[in-house]
Amino acid sequence: MALGAGILESLRQALGDDVVLDPATNDITARRRDFSFEGTAPVLAVVLPRDTDQVSKAMRLCHEAGVAVTPQGGLSGLAGGAVPVAESVLISTERMRAVEELDPAAQTLTVQAGVVLETIQNTAADAGFFFPVDLGGRGSAQAGGLASTNAGGNCVLRYGMMREVILGMEVVLPDGTVITSLNKMIKNNAGYDLKQMFIGAEGTLGVITRLVLRLYPAPQATCTGLVACAAYDDVLKLLDRCRRGFGSGLTAFECMWADFYRLGTDAYGRPAPLPHGHGFYVIVETQGADQDADNTRFETVIGEAMEDGAALDAVIARSSRETTALWAIRDTPGDYSKVLNPAINFDVSLSVGRIGEFAAECHVKLAARWGDIHDVYFGHIADSNLHISARLVPGHIEPKAVKDIVYGCVGAFGGSISAEHGIGIDKRDYLHHSRSPEEIALMRRVKAALDPAGLINPGKVF
Ligand SMILES: Cc1cc2nc3c(=O)[nH]c(=O)nc-3n(C[C@H](O)[C@H](O)[C@H](O)COP(=O)(O)OP(=O)(O)OC[C@H]3O[C@@H](n4cnc5c(N)ncnc54)[C@H](O)[C@@H]3O)c2cc1C
Repeated sequence: MALGAGILESLRQALGDDVVLDPATNDITARRRDFSFEGTAPVLAVVLPRDTDQVSKAMRLCHEAGVAVTPQGGLSGLAGGAVPVAESVLISTERMRAVEELDPAAQTLTVQAGVVLETIQNTAADAGFFFPVDLGGRGSAQAGGLASTNAGGNCVLRYGMMREVILGMEVVLPDGTVITSLNKMIKNNAGYDLKQMFIGAEGTLGVITRLVLRLYPAPQATCTGLVACAAYDDVLKLLDRCRRGFGSGLTAFECMWADFYRLGTDAYGRPAPLPHGHGFYVIVETQGADQDADNTRFETVIGEAMEDGAALDAVIARSSRETTALWAIRDTPGDYSKVLNPAINFDVSLSVGRIGEFAAECHVKLAARWGDIHDVYFGHIADSNLHISARLVPGHIEPKAVKDIVYGCVGAFGGSISAEHGIGIDKRDYLHHSRSPEEIALMRRVKAALDPAGLINPGKVF
């Protein structure tokens, strides 16, 4: 008898028909896709638990039956980590939407794993706090998925990625054991910090059920400007000046190469806030507590960068409308379907000082293979994160060939093939470019210790 036979019935008996859906009688098409990939493997059951106990029961039954499980959050991931690529039971946290506690003294928010990012941000804001992880998928990405991918986004430079804002976690291991570690303390060196193993593990070690998230006081003032530089070395000088001049107030340093800037303005009919012709365009943003004092400081620091030649030209946003217009250029990838379609997008990391050299070499290699390639570059370079997008031409410029060149180049520069989005199924074949055989072997030992039968999220990461 097949291993999966009878698991639907066992799950239903333990959890009820309301919690366990039969894929034969329910349309699960949407549950097979994340934002970029589709999984076509057989799905034995869909479990929609409401609490940790139900997750634990489902995991234990699957473990005893030798059946694999695929953890799912908001399905906004960009690496295919949540789609079924092996026969499995889907366990979705979509009903685990309780905001359990906001502790103003500890500055923490305790949530179930299915709470959506936008709800976390709004709950924090309503209480005068700020939750700093922010990204385009905020309307669907859930706390558990954000933790499992160690998501980053727009404010990493100042506040860090999910890893930096998670103080406590509850997780269900593959055999159903519940590990409750809802720590609220900043300092806690009592043995191993076990939650770190599950952050960024892409659901391959356990199902996260609850999280304690760190909050910050809401910022009172924001300054935004666009600065033009001639060369990447000048961008680095500008970055150094901004880091020293703004200290921890510097929240964004988004660098757009000239071709990206042209695409983000001309291709959309947007007016260019600074003229074309410069090599690089950088959005600089700060957050602080006093708008007038911050405006003065912003003008002084950018003015000094222009005096010493690092910056050639600059505009400072004078209204929220102007701020939005500057960010719209940087947010062009959200609307690539209009200008760069179909496109392949990369999210890589490199040592900040070498990103300019890397981008130039990567472009030369791509152009040597396809004289007509349209590739553009931009990045949160202060976070060491570079995004590359290239237009695909079916039958001519194919995804695998582009990946081989870009990831080969990343490996040669000692970079990471995934800055933010994870490995999932998308980058599995390329992990060796960024991790040594010893590192991958250690990852496999950790996996084997927690999941010896390989039942949780098989086929992902490695
Ligand atoms: C428009 C857009 C913009 C984005 N921008 C950014 C960005 O700027 N920075 C960035 O870092 N990311 C970005 N992302 C991707 C981001 O990583 C995901 O949106 C998010 O982190 C995944 O959350 P999710 O709940 O949708 O998880 P899913 O997509 O459902 O799952 C993602 C992974 O986590 C696992 N998982 C999900 N829930 C759990 C759980 N409770 N326990 C264990 N494993 C679990 C899944 O198995 C899978 O491997 C963007 C996505 C979109 C759509």
